[in-house]
Amino acid sequence: MNIGQEVLEALKEEITEVEYNRYIKHLSYDAKKSTASLAIFYAHNAIVINWIKNKYSEKIAHLFEIKSGSKVIVQITLKNRVSAQKSKKAVEPQKITNSLLNQSYTFDNFMVGGSNQFAYSAVKSVSENAGNAYNPLFIYGGVGLGKTHLMQAAGNIFQNEGKVVIYTSVEQFLNDFIRHVRNKTMDRFQEKYRKCDVLLIDDIQFLSNKEGIQEEFFHTFEALKGTGKQIILTADKHPKKIGGLEARLQSRFEWGLVADIQPPELETKIAIIEKKCEINKVKLSKDIINYIATVIDSNVREIEGILSKLHAYSQLMHVDIDLDFTKNVLKDQIREKRANIDMDTITQTVAKDLNIKPSEIKSKGRSKNLVYARRISIYICRELTQNTMPQLAQYFGMKDHTAISHTIKKINDLLKDDEDFKTKIDELTNKITSNS
Ligand code: ADP
Ligand code: MG
Repeated sequence: MNIGQEVLEALKEEITEVEYNRYIKHLSYDAKKSTASLAIFYAHNAIVINWIKNKYSEKIAHLFEIKSGSKVIVQITLKNRVSAQKSKKAVEPQKITNSLLNQSYTFDNFMVGGSNQFAYSAVKSVSENAGNAYNPLFIYGGVGLGKTHLMQAAGNIFQNEGKVVIYTSVEQFLNDFIRHVRNKTMDRFQEKYRKCDVLLIDDIQFLSNKEGIQEEFFHTFEALKGTGKQIILTADKHPKKIGGLEARLQSRFEWGLVADIQPPELETKIAIIEKKCEINKVKLSKDIINYIATVIDSNVREIEGILSKLHAYSQLMHVDIDLDFTKNVLKDQIREKRANIDMDTITQTVAKDLNIKPSEIKSKGRSKNLVYARRISIYICRELTQNTMPQLAQYFGMKDHTAISHTIKKINDLLKDDEDFKTKIDELTNKITSNS
């Protein structure tokens, strides 16, 4: 099956059967004439061409982009009858088809650190040894931490080896099931899901409290596992915590290996941002990358959103992206997040990290360690909370706001040439923002 046919198959899942049969089924893809940036389809009838163009070409282009990673222009033209008939055969859907995967989700593009090392190694070893290493492999963790990325990275490897890979969500699986029940084609449903080589189901927690589909999924699972086919599942929590799951499913989810992904630590976040900049051809200086990594909490998807926002703004406004510009663009986003960070949280985190008591930070003690801790706390409170200088002065037991302003100036000077001090502040800010 060529990419054009795969895209039309994928489109089938997104539109109604009537629409598909009326307009899309008869399209044929010209694999020879199409290029990486131009996809040529032939329609059999001049009347429908405009309709197809208006209604579906954007969707088709989007699916191409998911599949190939690059933007294409979709061209739909009329083909004479003889060859149209010939190519009609070619688009006849096959029973088992590969799923569309995002080609940029690769192991190479995935930055590894302590937080995701375990999950990464587990998926990697499954991708090298399908069906034999860990089956099922169950990856769980919070939103935007790379579960789908890792799962599809394995999927891409399998597809490149010629294996039939199905990647689906619980919702798609359910819709597919309902469609086949309605069309009385359950045999085809079972053929599709039980005969594939690899089944990837994303966000399996949505099976919770859906008894009918749990039953169907159970049989699919048994059939695949019984024939040594690889299953990879992701969820937002450990199987034990999902709830509303049949006991037999829950226990099977733990049969293979359960691996978690934790929020990335600062260095990993920086590496991810650098990678995303490289992929999206966005140029950011080190201090901007640092700033984004420290102030934005650990959801990587959010970081990506910020990069494209920065890129778009700078293009629209014809300005280079510098640190002030970045701070300005991110202002609202950050303010919202920080609404719940208070000065106690900050001093407690700093105190714990430096092995002193929070009350000592607010005391008048002048030992080197205390001054250091106090400076850091004041600076972070100023950066992360909405408190005014007089409020800070009162909180830290200082005479008045000029004392605070003096401290902040001192810290800004230090930040310019003391790399260790800066790293410490970045680390602590990261800790505080990711725990809030
Ligand atoms: P999840 O499925 O856990 O919600 P995704 O896999 O969709 O998260 O990841 C969200 C985005 O963040 C994706 O674009 C993904 O490429 C990116 N991402 C997450 N973790 C990493 C990582 N360690 N290295 C590179 N990109 C990452
Ligand atoms: Mg996901």
